[in-house]
Amino acid sequence: MNRTFADRVGRVEPSATLAISNAAAELEADGVDVVDLSVGEPDFPTPENVVAAGKQALDDDHTGYTPSSGIPELKRAVAEKFADDGLSYDTDQIIVTPGGKQGLFETFMTLLDDDDEVVLLDPAWVSYEAMAKLAGADISRVDLTPHEFQLEPALEQLAATVTDDTTMLVVNSPSNPSGAVFSDAALEGVRDIAVDHDVTVVSDEIYQRIAYDEEPTSLGSLDGMANRTVTLNGFSKAYSMTGWRLGYVGMPGSMAEQAGKIHGHSVSCAVNFVQHAGVEALKNTDEPVVEMREAFRERRDMLLDLFADHGKEVPHPDGAFYMMLPVDEDDTAWCEGAIEEAHVATVPGSAFGTPGYARLSYAASEERLREGVARLAEHGYL
Ligand code: PMP
Ligand code: GLU
Repeated sequence: MNRTFADRVGRVEPSATLAISNAAAELEADGVDVVDLSVGEPDFPTPENVVAAGKQALDDDHTGYTPSSGIPELKRAVAEKFADDGLSYDTDQIIVTPGGKQGLFETFMTLLDDDDEVVLLDPAWVSYEAMAKLAGADISRVDLTPHEFQLEPALEQLAATVTDDTTMLVVNSPSNPSGAVFSDAALEGVRDIAVDHDVTVVSDEIYQRIAYDEEPTSLGSLDGMANRTVTLNGFSKAYSMTGWRLGYVGMPGSMAEQAGKIHGHSVSCAVNFVQHAGVEALKNTDEPVVEMREAFRERRDMLLDLFADHGKEVPHPDGAFYMMLPVDEDDTAWCEGAIEEAHVATVPGSAFGTPGYARLSYAASEERLREGVARLAEHGYL
């Protein structure tokens, strides 16, 4: 069969993060012991109370479709959570999605036309570029690498990149893949630029609960941002619920009405009983969230020390559970070698727009992290 596919799929590559974790899983299936530091997925079980709420919802027959944008209890809980962050989305400005990724996808599809411009801050999570390209948009990039991945020192460059022709700017703090948490001054700088050029900002706050110092500020809470900020958040990372596929997005003005069309025509709704578990997660799960965050902090500190012992200075991450290890210029070859020879899986920085680094996810036990560093050192990768 000689089939021609749509241009749009030809514009994108498969997700590099998922591709490498699939490759690691294949090696493991062949009996190889891989230290998998590739995919961004907490290694803790979902908190017990959340699992119990999901089971109870099944027993209570919450198994049919729900209102497309989410069950009212969850949307109310999300609106309250947003209000705690200083964000004023009404329930009709919120869509509950199967994973945060779907919320982002609907956002890109709703806001972008062919040839519109999206500005990304590199390193940027792999799927922003793919979503922008699927929507037909063009991408401009601001490189944060010379500033140890911080945004504040790059504000001038951002101001020079964003113009009246820019439609969307994506900000992700705490950041995947760098672990950087942007300062309030940086976010205020973003606000000034966005207001000046009438740009919509997508604030991806999915790692909000994994920040080691101060609580990160929500961009949409800054003066002038309420009517131009899309806020994405979800359950995967904070509550270790990656496989439940649950996220939510707050949209300004009447945007949710428009995005809701894409939502309804594609996924109908998020899974019913999973949404009930989500209510429990938002309302009663603070303690496990803090415990997981503290475990991530200890691992970060341990890893930074281990790398320093090998003479490797890693830009200090303040959140998420990632760090960017400086490696060879050809980071793809480095990562391929590391998985083949040392059996340590990492993601090349070039997948995020910043060659010369490998992203490590430290959502793994201290023992496995030590093992990973030892193997990298033994095979000459440090
Ligand atoms: N944003 C970022 C920056 C991420 O790393 C992820 C991880 N997959 C997501 C959004 C979406 O996560 P999920 O679909 O699991 O909610
Ligand atoms: N966001 C995670 C990562 O970057 C999960 C995989 C994905 O969705 O890309 O590894």
